[in-house]
Amino acid sequence: MKRREISFSNTSDGSCDSTNCNNPIKRSVSRKKVDLVSDLKVEGTGKKVGLCQECYRIFRKSTKKEREMESFGR
Ligand SMILES: [Zn+2]
Repeated sequence: MKRREISFSNTSDGSCDSTNCNNPIKRSVSRKKVDLVSDLKVEGTGKKVGLCQECYRIFRKSTKKEREMESFGR
């Protein structure tokens, strides 16, 4: 079971836009691209989505997978 952390405020700036994630934003990427990544679900409606380091890593991996779909991992 996932425990939802309490966010201090509803600001979209500052913390990761991915659902279930409250890490500080490291990168902002285009929302359209994030929509293509099924592993990432983001909130908000802005054109840009803020991702923390971990989510950005997932994002990069997934966008990379589009090219090289060989090892499915684990
Ligand atoms: Zn995140």
